[in-house]
Amino acid sequence: METPQLSSLYQQLILEHYKHPRNKGALDEPTVEIHMRNPTCGDEVKLQLRVDDGVVTEVGFTGQGCSISQASISMMTQQLAGMSVDDALELARRFTRLMHGDDEVARDRSLGDLRALQGVARFPVRVKCALLGFDALQEALNATEASTEGATP
Ligand code: ZN
Repeated sequence: METPQLSSLYQQLILEHYKHPRNKGALDEPTVEIHMRNPTCGDEVKLQLRVDDGVVTEVGFTGQGCSISQASISMMTQQLAGMSVDDALELARRFTRLMHGDDEVARDRSLGDLRALQGVARFPVRVKCALLGFDALQEALNATEASTEGATP
């Protein structure tokens, strides 16, 4: 039986993000922060967002764990800055579909570097690693939407 492997090109990209994570570090004035763990693997992330008028203006994270979890978060933050809350939620939904083996999403260039993680879908245990940052993102965005509801005059 053939052992599924991540292509070496994709593997290099994952390692590159792992070694040189984008947007790593704490924000001065986040509007929301979510701490999340993946006990199966020991991955950990604290995601911070600054959301102004429904747009993600700043993003930062701290954390530790396996290369897939940390590279996924780094790739995710790379896409987030400047996105509306709705677009960010859509990104999280698309990436979740990618992790569930959706071929159509795998061809979606708007996912950028995140497409390097598509091979992870074949390893159910690692899917949790790849989705950790996105679970934190969805929770952060939901918390943001809840806090702004009714706040507008
Ligand atoms: Zn992991």
